[in-house]
Amino acid sequence: MTTFIVANWKMNPLTRKEAEELFSFFKKTTDKRGKVIFCPPFPYLHLGENLNLGAQNCFPERKGSFTGEVSPYMLKDLGCDYVIIGHSERRSVLGEDFFFVKRKVETSINAGLTPILCVGEEKREGTDASGEIKEQIRSALERVSFKEIIIAYEPVFAIGTGSACPIEVAAERRFLIEDILSQMKIEKDSVPILYGGSVNAENAKGYLLEGGFQGLLVGGASLEKEEFTKIIESVF
Ligand code: PEP
Repeated sequence: MTTFIVANWKMNPLTRKEAEELFSFFKKTTDKRGKVIFCPPFPYLHLGENLNLGAQNCFPERKGSFTGEVSPYMLKDLGCDYVIIGHSERRSVLGEDFFFVKRKVETSINAGLTPILCVGEEKREGTDASGEIKEQIRSALERVSFKEIIIAYEPVFAIGTGSACPIEVAAERRFLIEDILSQMKIEKDSVPILYGGSVNAENAKGYLLEGGFQGLLVGGASLEKEEFTKIIESVF
């Protein structure tokens, strides 16, 4: 099975010059090795030509009167093959609900993109983590037919905090996600499951070797040339 590393640059870097520098560095070092997928902000997508590209978001319509929004069909036409959907920052900061996330999954599949669906519990303790994750997966994927989809398990408490989820906890969640998929009659081998949340060069490999994940979704560290290169080298 392919191993994926997804770089989520979020709303960074601030200037085109910095984005060009990052891309020209990574074009030399990653060279399409494995599946490193770069998800920069929309205005920088064209700078990543010849790399595997993903968007950080899309709107669940093909075209029309949706001021400020970006169609998954446009993203496909621009060279993207992937799109991150349901990131916790969009669910919490922008109020995206289950139905909106599902519509994005469907529209992006129809546009020929592979959704990278983010799921994960909010708190480390004291909540029904499996209930939260089950609802996120079921609401997004029920009665949706797809050829390829990627799930990123991203516990919210680990995102951008520098405090990654313990590998054994993450591995339990991976089993849970596989179980949810099999209850939904989705062949688990057809859905790579990635880990995301404060991944760095030191902990990256453990999520694959001990945690059994098929890849990583990397936020902050994907903007640091040396650190991200070390992550890639440790994994591939
Ligand atoms: C993310 O943006 O999804 C993420 C995992 O960020 P970080 O690696 O910075 O925690």
